[in-house]
Amino acid sequence: MKSTMQDSPLGVPLLMRHVARVNGRSRVGAFDAQRQPITRTFAELAARAGRLGSALEQRGFGSGAVIGTLAGALPEHLEAYLGVPASARVLHTINPRMHADQIVHVATLADDEAMIVDAGNLGKFHEIASRLPRLRLLVTVGGPLPGDLAASLPCETIDYEALLAQGEPRLDWPIIDEHETAILCFTGGTTGLPKGVGYSHRSVWLQAMSLCTANSLGLGSASRLLPAVPLYHVNGWGLPFAALMAGADLALPGASLQAPDLLALIDAEAPTLAAGVPTIWSDLLAHLRAMQRTHLGALTTIACGGAQVPQSLIDAYAALGVRMLQAWGMTETSSMSAISQTPGWIASADRATQARCAAAQGRVVCGLEARVADLGGTLLPCDGASVGEIQIRGPWVTHGYLGQDDHAHLHDGWLRTGDLGTIDADGFISLTDRVKDAIKSGGEWIPSLALEEAIRSHPAVLDVAVVALPDPRWQERPGAVVVLAPGAGATPDELAQWLVTRVAKWWLPERWAFVDALPRTAVGKMDKKRVRQMMLERIDAAATAAEQC
Ligand code: AMP
Repeated sequence: MKSTMQDSPLGVPLLMRHVARVNGRSRVGAFDAQRQPITRTFAELAARAGRLGSALEQRGFGSGAVIGTLAGALPEHLEAYLGVPASARVLHTINPRMHADQIVHVATLADDEAMIVDAGNLGKFHEIASRLPRLRLLVTVGGPLPGDLAASLPCETIDYEALLAQGEPRLDWPIIDEHETAILCFTGGTTGLPKGVGYSHRSVWLQAMSLCTANSLGLGSASRLLPAVPLYHVNGWGLPFAALMAGADLALPGASLQAPDLLALIDAEAPTLAAGVPTIWSDLLAHLRAMQRTHLGALTTIACGGAQVPQSLIDAYAALGVRMLQAWGMTETSSMSAISQTPGWIASADRATQARCAAAQGRVVCGLEARVADLGGTLLPCDGASVGEIQIRGPWVTHGYLGQDDHAHLHDGWLRTGDLGTIDADGFISLTDRVKDAIKSGGEWIPSLALEEAIRSHPAVLDVAVVALPDPRWQERPGAVVVLAPGAGATPDELAQWLVTRVAKWWLPERWAFVDALPRTAVGKMDKKRVRQMMLERIDAAATAAEQC
């Protein structure tokens, strides 16, 4: 029997109307392009977003036209989040930290016809503009370009405010098929060219709704959210859309995620909830310690993910009165897909189980399903012990990549995440490794994330990466690259001694290196490919030196 329910499409136009008509009084507090504080109500934001969509339409950007952004987390970028998809165009948020060749690749593949660029990214734009023949408009945020500079560009340019002045604050756009792409993001591309994931109007809506549920972030109109996340990374983790949906006030960090700037924003906007990768929070912690500060105002919860969250970080924030919730997700799954909320059935006195849950990547959110399989595809039990590749499916998980017909990343319609780990009987996912980073020693897996965690727990260690190194006897053995805490010292022997009581003896790294900083990807994650390369070069150099002696 068919239901009697209406069938109205989900998506950004519906969200935009709700933002303007119901959540209009909620507000965005931010730093603008000149780092001056600026406040906008959601109603103003929606009206400006409407103008943007309308101006793009007037300029002949048709339905489905792709509009790129090279910009920080500025209010204008948020307006583009609403105005571009609501008017049936596609927003393509580009990571400006990528190499120029990669930006040209993603902008060409996406077929960007216009680009919104803030002042800090104009240099990058100049590097690529002449290689994008389809690009016909540059929109500058933070002021118009000087005439001679504009004349040197192969496309027309206009100041963002001047563009808005040409449009109308339009909210009622034609109905858009909810399966059309609203936002396009590319993966980090550490092992090859970035791959494009198109989030549909429907997936954006459903994922935002999921973030608002209490088992996830529980966002509501009493929340004040600080997304310490670049807006080009996984759709800003879906956080802007969730806040707009919930009517949660937003504190936007602008172009800088540096600790002093984040702290200034926290002081100015008093967020209750924040989200970001572990590096952001460990930098903030170091800054707080340097300032001898022991509070973060109204901030009670930080959702942390995108990379392994060290237990020491969770503990340090707990001491500041801030609960750190670990979350797991990926570009392909529209961000946070599992989150480590502590269920009520874990007794409050049961500290050990609570700690185990907090250390897990989390339980998959309702609407998505996760399972574990060996690399041949045979399903493994969800017993918390069987390690395999995590597979996931659901309405906000991608089934493919832009312009690619290859479906090697799918298994019976489930996305192969490339993450190794276990799932327990209560649905807690615990990662052990990335498939490509895994260390197989004498046929047995050594979980690099657990080994890193054990090394990181040494008081002299600030950060560490463990990678697989070739070994004639065991095929692979672990090597550790360590960053020591400022003023601290530790030798490989001392670190090995520390590990002896903490991990299996056969896990102990064979080789150690000490560096000032670990290489990071364009979204600030540890780049294990480069760490491994660095270790291999050191081994080669040492072998050459030994031969010459
Ligand atoms: P990205 O698409 O850039 O967001 O990268 C997604 C990848 O980040 C995942 O496949 C994981 O390997 C990693 N990741 C995300 N969250 C976590 C987490 N909480 N712990 C460990 N790794 C994570």
